[in-house]
Amino acid sequence: MVGPVIATFGSQEQKDRFLPATANLDIWWCQGFSEPDAGSDLASLRTQAVLDGDEWVVNGQKTWTTLGQYADWIFALVRTEPDAPKKQMGISFLVIDMLTPGISVRPIQLIDGGHEVNEVFFDNVRVPADQIIGERGKGWTIAKFLLGNERVGVAPVGTIKRALSDAKKHAGTTKSGRGTLLDEPLIALRFVELETQLAALELTVLRVAANSHGDKPEPASSILKLRGSQLQQDVFEFSADIAGPASLQWSQPDDTDLEAWTALATPTYLNFRKASIYGGSNEVQRSIIASGILGLKG
Ligand SMILES: Cc1cc2nc3c(=O)[nH]c(=O)nc-3n(C[C@H](O)[C@H](O)[C@H](O)COP(=O)(O)OP(=O)(O)OC[C@H]3O[C@@H](n4cnc5c(N)ncnc54)[C@H](O)[C@@H]3O)c2cc1C
Repeated sequence: MVGPVIATFGSQEQKDRFLPATANLDIWWCQGFSEPDAGSDLASLRTQAVLDGDEWVVNGQKTWTTLGQYADWIFALVRTEPDAPKKQMGISFLVIDMLTPGISVRPIQLIDGGHEVNEVFFDNVRVPADQIIGERGKGWTIAKFLLGNERVGVAPVGTIKRALSDAKKHAGTTKSGRGTLLDEPLIALRFVELETQLAALELTVLRVAANSHGDKPEPASSILKLRGSQLQQDVFEFSADIAGPASLQWSQPDDTDLEAWTALATPTYLNFRKASIYGGSNEVQRSIIASGILGLKG
């Protein structure tokens, strides 16, 4: 997410400093956009950065920060011009070392029992002034650019393909009547439906990628986010159906007699309820599609 931002909006010095290390995974990033009162309405964000000499002093809170507990750096949207006439103005894009004094990370536990998201607090965090990416106060343009890319990434064709092919393998080895689940006409039909939808998604991803240009967000990325997250959820729901009632036994894979895929089917299904929320909720994507693609007025 942040690589293309630095490549497009960063200075040469920032590109040299961050891009090779990011591509190498020497820097592991997290995303500091959402706040407790700024999710769908992201432009309402309140985390503030005030310039003091050659440093920004950052105060505020981010939330839902995925894998923030492992991150070396965070890229954050902060308000640098609180008096700007519109809330979309006066936002800037800062990159911050997670080891900077004043940053604290608190875990949020998810419905599957796992810990992948966090709250991140900034208490007088001092950030060198040259860690702003792009122009001061123009962070909203960067945020839209990044979110367009993020939404394409939230339609993970490869991951869905693998999950669907695993589900087929499991259906083919799960006994049912005289054969396996895969011999059941309704199960076989569902595979065909999901595989067809996946092929359509893959073609759309390629179309969006081919049409993307410059620093303008591609509104069709919202279609990918919407359909990709729905399809991913459908596949994980189907996998839980194939795993059957045994998968409701709530335990960790190393603490059960069940095969790992069966034990993980329900937690995975529950975990991926998140996909229709993150990257901008699916309701919000529908609004973007209505206005940005269909030209409808709200
Ligand atoms: C697992 C997970 C990981 C995440 N990771 C990150 C991360 O790493 N970094 C980060 O910055 N954020 C992250 N997010 C945050 C995510 O982007 C927000 O949760 C999302 O944008 C929704 O914001 P919200 O949670 O504040 O819900 P709200 O905006 O409060 O929305 C609540 C409900 O109201 C609906 N709604 C709101 N506005 C409208 C509208 N205008 N029209 C129709 N319906 C509307 C929403 O669809 C939703 O159903 C993550 C979220 C989750 C669940």
